[in-house]
Amino acid sequence: MNPTFAALPTTIFEVMSGLARELGAVNLGQGFPDSAGPEDVRRAAAEAVLNGSNQYPPMAGLPVLREAAAEHYARHQGLALDPATEVIVTSGATEALAASLFGLIALGDEVLLFQPLYDAYLPLIRRAGGVPRLLRLEPPGWRITREALAAAFTERTRLVVFNNPLNPAARVFDGEELALLAEFCVARDAVAICDEVWEHVVFDGRAHTPLIALPGMRDRTVKIGSAGKIFSLTGWKVGLVCAAPQLISAVAKAHQFLTFTTPPNLQAAVAYGLSKDAAYFEGMRRDFARSRDRLTEGLRAEGYAVLPSEGTYFLSIDLAASGVDMDDETFCLQAVKEAGVAAIPVSSFYAENPVRSVVRLCFAKKDETLDAGIERLARARRMF
Ligand code: PMP
Ligand code: GLN
Repeated sequence: MNPTFAALPTTIFEVMSGLARELGAVNLGQGFPDSAGPEDVRRAAAEAVLNGSNQYPPMAGLPVLREAAAEHYARHQGLALDPATEVIVTSGATEALAASLFGLIALGDEVLLFQPLYDAYLPLIRRAGGVPRLLRLEPPGWRITREALAAAFTERTRLVVFNNPLNPAARVFDGEELALLAEFCVARDAVAICDEVWEHVVFDGRAHTPLIALPGMRDRTVKIGSAGKIFSLTGWKVGLVCAAPQLISAVAKAHQFLTFTTPPNLQAAVAYGLSKDAAYFEGMRRDFARSRDRLTEGLRAEGYAVLPSEGTYFLSIDLAASGVDMDDETFCLQAVKEAGVAAIPVSSFYAENPVRSVVRLCFAKKDETLDAGIERLARARRMF
């Protein structure tokens, strides 16, 4: 048995969704919308199941999707990518991360990560033979500073894993922070693996800037996207990886032995979806922002201190500032069991020195789900 994996706990998302199902709680924990997702994109998938090929697609992905991805990122983010040599398709961002880490880490390489971090990163890095180094971000600002980067980068830093917008902190890093990170990657000759699954979910007029667009980063960045997030179809697991040919070919070599391919019908539907006009993406952001505001206002009215959400479909409450004298894990367990609402403790995104008073809530929900969640969280605050 591999001790690294055998000893791992089950991911917090599965634990909380399992409890919510078992106890019939309102689930504001795991990040998934409770809507059906865009009907035209789902119809495109159904059509491809019935009338398209259901056999192995090419290992790097359907050409039509690779072309659609290059066109999409040119239109939305100003990138110039060659679909034939700089884009591949994976089974979700999770597989893209695994393939990138397995393909790019050499034994003993140091990999810099930012806490709070998505739970898949560390086990994959360790299994790939990398040595993680953690830079700690903390509320309420969750800012990256020059001092923190200078202390975290070492002579052996080969890779940086960077999630922007950041789950669970709901931060969209600004131009100054991106420029700092790029400066360090270039000066230290490090490759950045950028988890940008939340690239389209940014609010209040913000635009997503991919790190690959910064000076010096074009040939040292692997950009990862997720159709599950772009179209609110989280079960689809279609990932998009963009990088210079040398990097992407190493990632593809790992991908060929992880899943090899991704269902062709979903790829075809994602290719269709990526070509949707700007109004679709603007409408999506507007709807999510409205839900964010509904949850924020409802919770504030009940006495909760809500941290700002600049992107992702999450916001956080600060328990200490809300007058709740409890750590986040205890709060989440009692909230799901006694108040009927599931949430995610942010300490589960820290591997060391956790922030323990912040709880993440997903607002990608129908109004009635949000209202029920607010009512139950109000009950929790009164009970605890
Ligand atoms: N990275 C981050 C930061 C995420 O939040 C998620 C899922 N929400 C993923 C990766 C996984 O994406 P996928 O479902 O496409 O594997
Ligand atoms: N990314 C989702 C979240 O943060 C969950 C993904 C998962 O369940 N592994 O809630």
